[in-house]
Order: sequence, then C-alpha cells, then structure tokens
Amino acid sequence: EQKVVLITGCSSGIGLALAVRIAKDEKKRFMVYATMRNLKKADDLIEAAGKTLGRTLEIKQLDVCDEKSIKACVDSIPNRRIDILVSNAGMGLIGPIECQTMEEMKAVMDTNFFGLVRLLQEILPDMKRRKSGHIVVISSVMGIQGILFNDIYAASKFAVEGFCESLAVQALRFNLNISLIEPGPVITEFERKVYEEGLKTDLTKADKVTADMFTNIYMKNYKQIFESLGQSPEDIAEHTLKIINAGTPPFRHQTNTLYTPMTTLKYADPSGDLPIDTFYKMVFEHDKVFNASLNFIKLLRWRSRKSFSLGKPQS
Ligand code: NAD
Repeated sequence: EQKVVLITGCSSGIGLALAVRIAKDEKKRFMVYATMRNLKKADDLIEAAGKTLGRTLEIKQLDVCDEKSIKACVDSIPNRRIDILVSNAGMGLIGPIECQTMEEMKAVMDTNFFGLVRLLQEILPDMKRRKSGHIVVISSVMGIQGILFNDIYAASKFAVEGFCESLAVQALRFNLNISLIEPGPVITEFERKVYEEGLKTDLTKADKVTADMFTNIYMKNYKQIFESLGQSPEDIAEHTLKIINAGTPPFRHQTNTLYTPMTTLKYADPSGDLPIDTFYKMVFEHDKVFNASLNFIKLLRWRSRKSFSLGKPQS
C-alpha cells in the first residue's frame, strides 16, 4: 500500500526537491501531497513534477501560520491519513538584533517553530490513534549550534529541537517516529533571500564595532561559505528519503559531514566554552583556528583514552 506523505513549503528549495524525488520513486511507494502557502507559486514544482502530477503527486494549499488552512488541507486528504509528515517550511533572518523589529523576529518564530506546532496539533492525534506515523522535521545544524548573527533563526531551530526531543518520548509510546534532518548550508532561495535582506539591514541602529563585524566579516564570508560548503536541495532530498525509508529512523541526522566536528565540540565540552571559543577564533583569529582544532583533537583523544581506561584496565 502507498504511503501518504505531506510536505510543507514546496514552492522552492528542499521542499520542492523532496516532493519530486519522493513522487518519482521507481516503485511508486508514495502518494505525495506537496503543499505551499501560495498556489500561484506552483510553476517550478509543476514543471519539476512532470508526469507524476496527478498520479503520485498532488499540489495543495497550506500556510503553516494559519490553523484553518492546515485543517482544510488535512481534511481534504482521504481519511485524513498522513503516514509521513515533512515539516519543511521555514525562513531565515540575519543581522544584529538591535537592527531587527519584533515583527520580523516573531515571523521567524511563528513560521519555523509554531508552524511545526500547528501542524502537529492537527496531525499528531490521528497518528496516535493509528499508532503509526513518521514526523520528519527539516531543522538545521543551527538547531544544535548557534552561529554569529543568526541569533533569532538559531533560536527558532533550537525551539524546534527542544520541542521534538520532548515529544519523541511520548511518540515512542504510540509507535511513532520523529526525525530531525540537520543540513548545513544549502543553496536555495533561502540563501538568496536571507542575503538580500541582510544587505538591506539598517545598521544605523548598531554601534560601529557591531556594524563592522556584520558587514566586513559576516556578510563578506556569507557567499563563500555557501559556495564552499553548500549542498544542493537534491542532496538534502536524498538524505531525507533515506531517513524516511529507514526501518528504525534516527532521531537526528546531519546531512553535511563537514559540520559534524563543529557540533561535536558542543557535546565534547559540557561547560560550553569549547565551541564558543573555537567559533570566536574562527571568526576573529583565523590563524589560531589551527591550534583550536589541535586542542579539540587532544581533548577527544583524552576523552577516548579515559573511557577506554574505564572500560578495560590498561596495563
Ligand atoms: P526556501 O526558501 O527555498 O524554502 C522555504 C519554503 O518555505 C519556501 O517555499 C517558502 O515559501 C515556504 N514558506 C515560508 N513560510 C511559509 C508558510 N507560512 N507556510 C507555508 N510555507 C511557507 O529555502 P529552503 O532552504 O528550501 O528551506 C527549507 C527548510 O530548510 C527551512 O526550514 C530552512 O530553515 C531549512 N534549512 C535551510 C538551509 C539553507 O541553507 N538553505 C539550511 C538548513 C536548514
């Protein structure tokens, strides 16, 4: 029997790539409801979906910031059955907080965090009743590790992660799975929108040091980071499909191994100083990064020796 997949934010980027990838499954194992806030933006998806449209892929309206639109969409699905929910819709925000309005910040929290909460309020009770379902959430490495000038965005993804971590225990009781996909930079509309908005930041509200840090360090390196470390939305779709198909899907999955050492810093040092120190050096003291990495490796060696000696007595 076909599994029903509902994905949010499918007019572009990861949502679009994932919807199309799943709909084109060779064995036709999935029926995809590719949803978007504004159906007028469906052209790219329609084109990419090709012959799957009307067969294994259907496009529906869904705004994650509007409970009524979520309910209407779920009600329109046969028996309201959703086997796999992919919460993907999201937005970014960069810049010093003194240059951002509360409205801008609330929009990020409302979309990235409450968007997921709204979806689950509507869909989780059905999954619990059926005792089956997989909730897949497109989070970010910034759900584990804060990054300079991404304060509000990282906070929204931390909220997502804390929410899912709490819920995961309850979900187990109902045989449900929750998986957080944690990409590093991905080259999508997201990156372009965030960058362009970043350029428009009214820096007159920030002091000189902050404004300079944002313009001459953060924004200068932004494009380069995406170009050198960025994955494609198709890469993320591939990773996500693997997690969907896994017999026992993991709770967390990072798509970019280049980021794993950074997030490992956090788990390696409970005081939290190691990642902050390393990031500081990466941003402001490039030449010291080498030493910082070296210290990190030493720490890991020390830890593994310690756990080894705890396990087996060493001669
Ligand atoms: P994107 O901008 O191409 O896609 C985001 C989609 O969400 C857009 O289609 C947008 O219209 C939609 N959306 C925004 N508000 C919505 C709402 N209220 N209701 C429904 N849809 C709404 O960017 P993307 O990179 O494909 O982003 C998808 C997800 O991946 C986001 O959650 C983002 O935080 C996450 N992510 C992106 C990156 C990256 O670097 N691009 C990295 C890590 C995680």
